[in-house]
Amino acid sequence: MKLHCSNCNYQFAPKTGKAPQRCPYCSKEGSLEKAKEMQDLIDEFTSEKRAGE
Ligand SMILES: [Zn+2]
Repeated sequence: MKLHCSNCNYQFAPKTGKAPQRCPYCSKEGSLEKAKEMQDLIDEFTSEKRAGE
């Protein structure tokens, strides 16, 4: 899993089971969200395609 900071766009992979509350790069709290990985994008595309049929 990767996290993405919406404040500074820093991306990193936290150690399993320990998601930090603040960005280690810019130290902003609450700015971290799960980064989309390639498989997520594929799943999203596939489900959108199916929904349109
Ligand atoms: Zn940041």
